[in-house]
Amino acid sequence: MTQISITAKDRVFVLTGAGISAESGLPTFRAEDGLWAGHSVEEVCTPEAWRRNPEAVWQFYSERRAAGEKAMPNPAHIALAELEAKLGNRFFLCTQNVDDLHERAGSERLVHMHGELAKARCERECGRSPVEDRTIYRSLSEVGHCFCGGRLRPHIVFFGEIPLEMELIQEEIGKATLMLVVGTSGSVYPAANFVHWARMAGARTVYVGPEPPLNASAFTHVVEGKAGVVLPGLFQVE
Ligand code: NAD
Repeated sequence: MTQISITAKDRVFVLTGAGISAESGLPTFRAEDGLWAGHSVEEVCTPEAWRRNPEAVWQFYSERRAAGEKAMPNPAHIALAELEAKLGNRFFLCTQNVDDLHERAGSERLVHMHGELAKARCERECGRSPVEDRTIYRSLSEVGHCFCGGRLRPHIVFFGEIPLEMELIQEEIGKATLMLVVGTSGSVYPAANFVHWARMAGARTVYVGPEPPLNASAFTHVVEGKAGVVLPGLFQVE
């Protein structure tokens, strides 16, 4: 079985995608047909969709909230939280996922570059911080408004919008000596470029997933297998 050694000098940057939550029962986004849980992303995950039909968008993310609440962290989420406990501030996790399974497994040093299901924010980007919101909305009339009058929208980076925390992410990639990427198809940008940035900074780059991603040639190691099976035994921390 492949093992990745982590020395006292290493700093680890981890990028996770929908595949790490697949074994928790949450469907991945299928780049080949553009479907996420049976919905076309153009219908429910774009700024145009929000302008055209906010009710359909809230319905989609309400369904994702309901599914996310039922799901439990799997051994892959737990292995990453355990690695963080060993490495402290030499570990940084960036997830493309909008579920909260990493937090529920115990991860603390993490950012959600594509937003969080359990939050909402003003559609007018008026400057107020996102608020916690786990409501399962049945109709648009139930959705609240900001003090400025704007409707609350999901705190999700729709396709075509700029991801969150990019400055911090770039800084952490620049410091990393090892990048581990788990369960992401390499089709959503800029996340698919992170491995190239890490290579330019001289880091080892490891991919874990059942099939090679589109950007597989940029990895120094590709470990084929399910995250929940591979991650628990992958690291040897010296
Ligand atoms: P993707 O759906 O495009 O690709 C998923 C990848 O996971 C595939 O390469 C697949 O081979 C791999 N995979 C499947 N089962 C796996 C397993 N058991 N272990 C490891 N890997 C496995 O995912 P993406 O690249 O993350 O892009 C999806 C986009 O859609 C993201 O931006 C994300 O915000 C959103 N999304 C989020 C969730 C979530 O929060 N759980 C779910 C679906 C989609």
